[in-house]
Amino acid sequence: MSPTNIVVIIIAFILFVLAFILIKTLLFARKSDSITIPFKYGVPRFAQDPQVLAEHLSSVIKIQTISHEDAKEDVIENFETMQALLAKTYPLTHKNLQKELVDGHTMIFTWEGKEPSLNPVVFMAHQDVVPADEYTLDQWTYPPFSGKIADGFIWGRGTMDIKCQMISVFESVEALLAAKFKPDRTIILTFSHNEEVLGTGAMAVVKHLKGKGVRVEAVIDEGGAVYDGIIPGVKGYVATIGISEKGYLSLKFTVQATGAHSSTPPKETAIGILSRAINRLENNRFPTDVRMVKPMFQGLGGAASPMMQMAFANLWLFGGIIAKILSAKGETDATIRTTTAPTLFHSGVKDNMLPSVAEAVVNFRILPGQSIADVCEYIRFVIKDKRVTFEPMDQKAWEASPLSPVDGNAYRHIASVIGEIWPGSAVAPYIMLGGTDSRNFCEISDCVYRFIPMVVNEEDLDRIHGVNERIGIDEFQQMADTIYRVMVRWSQKEL
Ligand SMILES: [Zn+2]
Repeated sequence: MSPTNIVVIIIAFILFVLAFILIKTLLFARKSDSITIPFKYGVPRFAQDPQVLAEHLSSVIKIQTISHEDAKEDVIENFETMQALLAKTYPLTHKNLQKELVDGHTMIFTWEGKEPSLNPVVFMAHQDVVPADEYTLDQWTYPPFSGKIADGFIWGRGTMDIKCQMISVFESVEALLAAKFKPDRTIILTFSHNEEVLGTGAMAVVKHLKGKGVRVEAVIDEGGAVYDGIIPGVKGYVATIGISEKGYLSLKFTVQATGAHSSTPPKETAIGILSRAINRLENNRFPTDVRMVKPMFQGLGGAASPMMQMAFANLWLFGGIIAKILSAKGETDATIRTTTAPTLFHSGVKDNMLPSVAEAVVNFRILPGQSIADVCEYIRFVIKDKRVTFEPMDQKAWEASPLSPVDGNAYRHIASVIGEIWPGSAVAPYIMLGGTDSRNFCEISDCVYRFIPMVVNEEDLDRIHGVNERIGIDEFQQMADTIYRVMVRWSQKEL
């Protein structure tokens, strides 16, 4: 072959590759109109007065429904007071829906649909809140349980996480009942009382429904939000809908050794052996998998920069670079791998005595696609030391949730409502790094979505579980309106 021919072949090959990259990029970004569903509501628009809405939220913020790791510390009367108040505020809901309690104070409401053969839909939130750190009390503009309505906001614990969503669900049902609306399919509302700690309430709900043979069509719970300026390189609002959440695994590592006097130490000690094992885990992090963030960038579509779109459309070529960029920061690194976090380390009682045992706890957050068994196998492979044993801590291990579909109607209806309430915003699915009650529902539903219809900016992120938790009065109205619309859409036969 002549040199000219070789050059021609090389150029043709390069052009082919470039064309391939370009075509893949153009096909990548999902058109936002392809994920929306036009809909005729057939009921009055949600028209609750924002001021009344704010007062309803404020009234439950004032009640300190704090949950504790040790359930005995819970002030049960507070949960009962709040439930009694809800019954007073939402009389139609309490008259027309069947209320049940499970696991103590977790509530289930059932609104029977016209067609009992259809699978029900579930609207979730939780009643409990985290406490306000006493060292930061003086930094609050208004006390954390004041429920103060001022400066255009409702202030206090639960205004963002997540009494706001609970009240939104009640407001929606109450308004729909007042409008004589009758859902085709059964609507179930459920509000657990210990999401922030044990999460046994939601487990009991799923057990209860499973026991009745219920299969759920779709679930909506807290999760992603409408982010304003938080996702790098993306302009405008981005609504993120959680379609899965990472698994959770706290392993207790133990090394036994013969205790001895420190004047005659053996070559290796319990502390030394365990430290090396932990060190190996830190130095051999779990492999990255950028495929997990691909659906998110696909959903962002034109809102993401062209470079980002090209890179994600061609992971075969740019996967390595993307992994490198994302793994540079803790927050983004956690989106592409199972994370390793040593959180506890105990050993020894006296300065001149070698301990007979060393213990450590490492918390792993498992990426969907991997199982607890995979994680344990990898740990054994990395540590390579049979003297280091490990076992999961009680109630501190669960698998990553399966991915809920983004091309089904339940997801598309949420995306459509987001488009109605916040026109022009991008909608993207993502994998949640934290956990929610809704993961339990994956047992009885394929479509579990995690979304808080609330605009959140960088500064707001610190308010959740932090100081000055608050929600704008108008934002809260939009939130309740979103839940109302999703409820009407999801309750239809043709979901
Ligand atoms: Zn929450």
